[in-house]
Amino acid sequence: MASIHFNTLIFCLIVLLMSLYSPATFAAFPTQIIENEDVQLEQFEMGYFIDKSQTMSFESIKQQEFKLTPNALSLGTEAKTTWSKIALHNTTKSALKIYLHHPYAYHNRAVELYEVVDDQLLNHRVLNMDDKDTQQWMYRGSAVFEITLSPDKQTTLFVKGVAFSHQWFALNLYSEENSKRALLGQYTNIALAVGMILALIIYNFLLFFSSRLREHFYYACYLVAGGFWIALSYGLLADLFNVYGSITLKWHLSLVAMPIFLLLFMINIFETQKKYPIEHWALLSILTLLIVDFIYGLFDIVTALQYSSTLAAIMMAVSLCVTFSMLIRKQPIAPFFLLGHGLFVFFSALAVFFYKGKAEFSYINSHGVGIGILLEALVLSLIVAYRIRILENLKATQADLQVLASTDPLTQLFNRRHFSHAANQLLKQARIAQQPSSVAIIDIDLFKKINDTYGHASGDESIKHAANMIKGLSRHQDLVARYGGEEFIILMPNTVANDAYKLTERIRIALESATLANNKNHLNFTISAGVAEIDSQTFNLKEAMDSADKALYKAKNNGRNQSQLAGE
Ligand code: GH3
Ligand code: MG
Ligand code: MG
Repeated sequence: MASIHFNTLIFCLIVLLMSLYSPATFAAFPTQIIENEDVQLEQFEMGYFIDKSQTMSFESIKQQEFKLTPNALSLGTEAKTTWSKIALHNTTKSALKIYLHHPYAYHNRAVELYEVVDDQLLNHRVLNMDDKDTQQWMYRGSAVFEITLSPDKQTTLFVKGVAFSHQWFALNLYSEENSKRALLGQYTNIALAVGMILALIIYNFLLFFSSRLREHFYYACYLVAGGFWIALSYGLLADLFNVYGSITLKWHLSLVAMPIFLLLFMINIFETQKKYPIEHWALLSILTLLIVDFIYGLFDIVTALQYSSTLAAIMMAVSLCVTFSMLIRKQPIAPFFLLGHGLFVFFSALAVFFYKGKAEFSYINSHGVGIGILLEALVLSLIVAYRIRILENLKATQADLQVLASTDPLTQLFNRRHFSHAANQLLKQARIAQQPSSVAIIDIDLFKKINDTYGHASGDESIKHAANMIKGLSRHQDLVARYGGEEFIILMPNTVANDAYKLTERIRIALESATLANNKNHLNFTISAGVAEIDSQTFNLKEAMDSADKALYKAKNNGRNQSQLAGE
């Protein structure tokens, strides 16, 4: 059902977009009247003519009928060589200097300007983007031509544009003052968008370096490719670095790199390899095609770019299908991904209609891909944040489990398993620092009698009581654990046998004089302890524990309620 609704939506969208496109009409050619010096013509009517042969001479162009159009238009890929015609009439009594701007000239291979007055060709200028010498008319990505309008005369301008791929352009006319203003404010919005993407790139690379999670790396690379393409395609690179012409064509490979990294990101966040094998296979197939296209593009960019739009369409279809399938399976990230990617697909579709000359020249249409990338990038960063939260929760759960696995539930002391692990770590440090360590084994005296006399519950309470006293009286660096039923063990780092003996005696005396009281009974018990120092050559824990155990046995035999040092 969902996909049927989606298809209907796409169909309606296409119909809507087609209706926006109004075909140009033929009518009397309009003349722009210039009455004073303050020229700022940004919305006017002009004519255009597509030279399909790409070889027509200026003389024959002049004879052609030009279609009427607003001064900004998109004609698609079939209009490689396009002529515009603007009629101007300077009605003032003096000559006027005005400036013709072509703000998207950086997209072109070449721009030519012909000035005709009284049917005479007054001036002809050729701007070839690959020829450094003719780049004098390029300024911050725009072509800017100075024109002098004779007083009380009609001047006709013919502008020839040769596009690399899509023919889309605007022509504006300004006085010197207004020309400067127009050039200055041109790239602020693009710079802002690229700045935002740059901040996300840095943030995600930092996340990658701290977490080593590949999704951050792929996402950052995707943003690098997207941000680079926006900067390239909307003139920021031309503006900043003054680079135009065929070399910049290869840089459009960033548009192929972007879906490659997006697919890698998808594979990672959805864990498709592990969880969704069919979707994984689909994503890998289109990924392979895109990588092949990218590599091919390094050698033949024109052919690669021709295939890239088809591949991009397949990629969008595949990734949307995969996301739908995730959505059906209630994958928690899928709705975010669908929203982000859906926005990208929607705005890119607007842009594609615009590039193909099927949608009018508007801010949103002409910046469709850029807007799509930006919105997608922002929504996908929500996914990154969501994933961080999930992983943090997972880590916290794992940490809880680890504590649970290493703790004795009755006494909350470490258990035997954790003791062995932690003791080995401590002894490694002791070996490095060349410090003595000691171990003490403590056992409650005649415990069976406590169980028999007061019951098992009181027995448990006694064990807890002893555990609290032992833990409370040992030092923070000591490792205390419940080693068995009513047996405890203490590993004392940086402690010689005599000091360890003193410590266990302190515990023993404190327990002897303490009374465990509950609502039924008052209960006194004692402990015995065996103490041994760990060999400073071998640092063998097992050996020391055996010695301590023997000393404990001796303490028991000597009448209990005492500590014994091993080997004495
Ligand atoms: P000794 O002074 O020689 O150590 O005498 P003892 O009675 O303490 O002897 P022993 O250490 O062998 O006895 C251990 C008893 O502790 C056996 C067992 O029934 C009891 N026990 C072991 N674990 C628990 C426990 O978790 N709770 C209770 N209530 N009793 C336990
Ligand atoms: Mg025992
Ligand atoms: Mg005992």
